[in-house]
Amino acid sequence: MIPSPLGRSGAPRRVEHLVVGAGFAGLCAAIKLQEDGETDFLVIEKAGDVGGTWRDNTYPGAACDVPSQLYSFSFAPNPDWTSSFSAQPEIHAYLRRVAREAGVLDRFLFDTRLEDARWDDAAHQWVSTTSAGEIRSRTLVLGAGALSEPRLPDIEGLADFGGEVFHSARWDHSVDLTGKRVAVIGTGASAIQIVPELQRIVSHLDVYQRTAPWVIPRADRRYSALERTALQKVPGLQRAYRTGIYLARETYVPAFTIQPKIAWPAKQLALANIRRGIPDPVLRERVTPTFELGCKRVLISNAYYPALAADNVDLVTDGIAQVTSGAVVADDGTERAVDVIVVATGFFTTELPIAEHVTGPAGRTLAQVWAERGMAAYKGTTVPGFPNLFFLVGPNTGLGHSSMVFVIESQVAYLRAAVRAMRAGRYAAVEPTRTATDRWNRRLQRRMDHTVWSTGGCSSWYLDRHGRNTTLWPRATFTMRAQLSRFDQDTYTCTPLPTPTPTREDVTA
Ligand code: NAP
Repeated sequence: MIPSPLGRSGAPRRVEHLVVGAGFAGLCAAIKLQEDGETDFLVIEKAGDVGGTWRDNTYPGAACDVPSQLYSFSFAPNPDWTSSFSAQPEIHAYLRRVAREAGVLDRFLFDTRLEDARWDDAAHQWVSTTSAGEIRSRTLVLGAGALSEPRLPDIEGLADFGGEVFHSARWDHSVDLTGKRVAVIGTGASAIQIVPELQRIVSHLDVYQRTAPWVIPRADRRYSALERTALQKVPGLQRAYRTGIYLARETYVPAFTIQPKIAWPAKQLALANIRRGIPDPVLRERVTPTFELGCKRVLISNAYYPALAADNVDLVTDGIAQVTSGAVVADDGTERAVDVIVVATGFFTTELPIAEHVTGPAGRTLAQVWAERGMAAYKGTTVPGFPNLFFLVGPNTGLGHSSMVFVIESQVAYLRAAVRAMRAGRYAAVEPTRTATDRWNRRLQRRMDHTVWSTGGCSSWYLDRHGRNTTLWPRATFTMRAQLSRFDQDTYTCTPLPTPTPTREDVTA
């Protein structure tokens, strides 16, 4: 039975750690805190299940583009992945199983939304108002995800469209798309998985492309029964396999961060992918990107280009002027009648909505603090002015090439080290110094100047409105892991726990 956050008397619940979000990040934090004996925690989750992005993104064709052997917890290997790039239901089932087997679910409060979290400076506690009542905690761990709040496009008339409209991350499964006329807006990672699935069932599909992405072939294959048995039975095999994938992926880093020309072979693969999938030279031209490979996320698909080339699909590159009650009107005035519009336009990434709900001791929200210069944190995890706050998948921790689960485990290791340091030093609060945080971000942004994300000639969700990359990590991931492997207390202001006032007995003894 899941405990109520409110005590029996209705008094606020007090825990040591409050974790927000039950995706990979929140789940990892819960499991590892428990492992350390830090069992006094709660995880609040706005939805009714674990899984985060892998619970929410149920669109047809949803699958991971990082191999599952790597896109899984190092401490919970799964020899049963059915193919190299797992589909969403399999990843979601994995997370549910890991949560169940770890025995942490009794401290998860589902259907509970964080409304507001304020630091109480006198009590050295976070006071979180949730939809299930008030929760006080020593630490606040934000694992709400960087790709969780759908961003809807600002298109005139979209809200008044007479048919069905839904975002890729909020797929409406009650709508049967068979035989319908459908428009997909966007050609990002989600859209290129959706388009081939829809092409097979709809009567007509219009794909609205603003920028053509780079799409390389997907080297996906199903594991044989023999392989799966070997992964299960041969000691060390799965770990070696995982390490191999990890190291192979790290070799992509120099192309992103030092010299985009190194990506020449990948570019040739992508161009060959276009030629293989699309016979029409005019259409080939229209889907050929005009920026450096890697500037936006590199996509993988074997099915996207053939779907675009199908008779029942039109690629529209004219831009959208407006949506009427039954059609999408392009900038050139062409009106295309549709029954359903699928909006695959991504997420709020550089202005994290949760930042509006977290207020530090100075009375300013994280969003207000970040408004002027964009998101920034110390090591992507902690923020000056916000004691005992720990981000998982925080600013500049995103990856364009490898597994975010690796990042999450690295950040959770840092959280654990911080908690251990707080216990050992009897600290009520820890907060990174502004000097250390500024130095960290100056160095990081200096590196960013030379990356393909800055020089590659595109705009992307990696950049904020100042053109600053506040989302990605510009180095190898093992460097990040090394940085987060110990709690560097000397760069923190540590506030000791108040000394208990001596009792009369103490004084007379
Ligand atoms: P996205 O990469 O941000 O793509 C959004 C698409 O919508 C882009 O093509 C964008 O065009 C277009 N768009 C945005 N606003 C528009 C507007 N007003 N009018 C017309 N087009 C508009 O979003 P996403 O595809 O949902 O993917 C987000 C991230 O989620 C990915 O980069 C990836 O990290 C993750 N993801 C991963 C997987 C996977 O593992 N397979 C799958 C899905 C998502 P522009 O390019 O011109 O901006």
